[in-house]
Amino acid sequence: MNYIDTHCHLDGEEFAEDLDAVIARAKEAEVTAIGVPGIDLKSCDSVLALCQRYPGYCFPMLGLHPEEVKSDWQDVLARIKGFLASKPAIGEVGLDFYWSREFEQEQLLAFEEQVRWSVELQLPLMIHCRKAQNEMVSILKHYRDDLPGGVFHCFTGNELEAKELLQFNRFVLGIGGVLTFKKSHLPEVLPAVVPLDRIVLETDAPYMAPVPMRGKRNEPAFVVYVLERLAQAYGVSKEEVVRQTDANCEKILNINV
Ligand SMILES: [Zn+2]
Repeated sequence: MNYIDTHCHLDGEEFAEDLDAVIARAKEAEVTAIGVPGIDLKSCDSVLALCQRYPGYCFPMLGLHPEEVKSDWQDVLARIKGFLASKPAIGEVGLDFYWSREFEQEQLLAFEEQVRWSVELQLPLMIHCRKAQNEMVSILKHYRDDLPGGVFHCFTGNELEAKELLQFNRFVLGIGGVLTFKKSHLPEVLPAVVPLDRIVLETDAPYMAPVPMRGKRNEPAFVVYVLERLAQAYGVSKEEVVRQTDANCEKILNINV
């Protein structure tokens, strides 16, 4: 099998000591590509450098994360835009009103600006959304017909929320460790309303480690536990989940393995 971790913060300090070993374990676990999102100016720079170190294996996603949007967002975005010549995905971008609404207005404006980049450059979006689905959907609706597609990363919502997101063509849900948690409703919600051709796998490492690794540092090799749980929830083979999610990565994220 060859499958893809579409969202992993490999540039984080958590991986500084043993990055080569983490990559080697991922390859051994049959992970054939990793999407690496930036969150701010500094991390976009390090994500690009990291992806150059593992060409054809690590794929950059560049953008300003909603939790990093501050009063200087316009200046930061102008600089991040300068990195887009390498044709990365745009990410991770979005809205997060869970921790703080201090920069709510700035978050909305910064997200919309990066959505416009996606349309202008026809680069896919990697979207982070927490406690803000209504606001996110109302922004995306303005660009619905022109958006190239993307991922609603770390989906943990209910059936109605899933359906609302799937109305955006060429967008898929990123499913990670939460699926494996004992109290998760995702094993029922997803098969009820989300076809496998609208899902991609992710770890969000170093966060969100799946069962049985919960509580440890997450890493790309652990995406296999998400794959296994998804196959079980849909009542299909792991190979079938791999076939469909890989096809989605190629179609939506231009990650071809
Ligand atoms: Zn992330």
